[in-house]
Amino acid sequence: MSSFDFDLVTIGAGSGGVAASRRAAAHGARVAICEGDRVGGTCVIRGCVPKKLLMYASQFADAFADSTGFGWSGVPPDFDLRTLIEAKNRETARLEGIYRRMLVDAGVTLLEGQARLIDAHTVEVGGRQVTAGHVLIATGGRPSQPPVDGLSLAISSDELLDLTEQPRRLLVLGSGYIAVEFAGIFAGFGSAVTLAYRAEMPLRSFDDDVRHRLATAMAARGITLRPGFAVEKLERTANGIRAIARDGNTVEADAVLQALGRSPNTEGLGLDALGIRVNAASGAIEVGADSRTSVDNIYAVGDVTDRVNLTPVAIAEGRAVADTVFGGTPRTVDHRLIATAVFSQPALGTIGLTETDAIQAGRTVTIFESDFRPMKHTLAGREERAYMKLVVDAETDKVLGAHLLGADSGEIIQALGVAISMGATKADLDRTLAVHPTSAEELVLMRSPRQP
Ligand code: FAD
Repeated sequence: MSSFDFDLVTIGAGSGGVAASRRAAAHGARVAICEGDRVGGTCVIRGCVPKKLLMYASQFADAFADSTGFGWSGVPPDFDLRTLIEAKNRETARLEGIYRRMLVDAGVTLLEGQARLIDAHTVEVGGRQVTAGHVLIATGGRPSQPPVDGLSLAISSDELLDLTEQPRRLLVLGSGYIAVEFAGIFAGFGSAVTLAYRAEMPLRSFDDDVRHRLATAMAARGITLRPGFAVEKLERTANGIRAIARDGNTVEADAVLQALGRSPNTEGLGLDALGIRVNAASGAIEVGADSRTSVDNIYAVGDVTDRVNLTPVAIAEGRAVADTVFGGTPRTVDHRLIATAVFSQPALGTIGLTETDAIQAGRTVTIFESDFRPMKHTLAGREERAYMKLVVDAETDKVLGAHLLGADSGEIIQALGVAISMGATKADLDRTLAVHPTSAEELVLMRSPRQP
């Protein structure tokens, strides 16, 4: 038995911290976890879960609109944001309770309060000091505050998720997945949404064909897109808030969501004094493939390391640390092939290399694509199309990437991701019989490559 109070003290009870702590405890380690806010972290309290609940609510707008083509009448009914937010709050409270119980059941001690490192083996939390053989930093991230004049007039996704009065006009600043998702959600609720961003297209680093089609679909759904809008200033007006861009262009709205990026939570942790290396540009804690920081017994996982900022990645990194340090099975997480979804409307699913990435990596690629009007849209009278693209290595026939846009893309990409992670070739997909009639069957029916 070591002389420390615990074998592991984790700072941050979010996705990565909770997963790592439970796994370490399962390996027999004595574990404490510190949390300065609500147990569950970003994903459960102010990220994936509440966002997806709001997205479900928003999607009813499509269902009501489409239903008339299928014989229904008397729609749409009224929507009340306050009722939805109250229901969402009950659900996140329920989930927080489950997370707390999971920690108790695992034998993990919860220490409530903001934590900071005193030395490599001592953590101060809630006015008390505890010692540990190993420390895991899993403090996540928060909305960035870029230097925009008057930015305090805007709200972040944290506050948007608790809004009970629906803005008639919502301006969303940013073009990442959070910006795109909330633009779609509030457009579904009936707000007049403007999505303003500096780039030419939303969702930098996603496949260009998908980005282009998503922008077209969002515009067709009534969202006003303002590409090339480099916001410089926000100011209050008699009727709301005005955003002013560098070139003098303006947008006025009742509420402004700033989704201009996220920053790692490292402030006040005492990293400097310990010599824990932090990336100068991003502020993220620097770690090796094994998530070890520049101090031997201190690890960091999840968004605070700014590798791939997604819940399943934080969980996988946390579990890998626990298995390595306490389970006698050293392992790392492969960050190369990660299937992910953007819950835009229409939804996007993606895994692997984009066409541009593949070409830049020196691969010769063959592109297969299908652009079609889903069957459901025919009677609905909806013109919106779905799109699927496979990036295939011309030499090995391996599928290097898949990029989908359309209903259920998040669900489809999870299953396709298994095949692609196993090294599926285009011939493997061709050999697979279709499930008919579905949209996903297009993935196994693409016979002719796109002509250069
Ligand atoms: P977090 O979950 O952020 O947990 C960190 C915890 O540490 C927090 O509870 C915080 O209070 C606590 N903490 C911080 N500092 C201290 C301190 N000094 N002392 C004590 N406690 C501290 N990912 C997906 O995979 N799919 C999605 O659909 C998705 N949607 C998202 C939507 C939104 C709006 C946002 C903001 C994020 C979304 N994400 C999504 C990202 C996902 O939430 C994060 O990648 C994930 O939560 C990261 O987990 P983590 O353990 O690194 O940190």
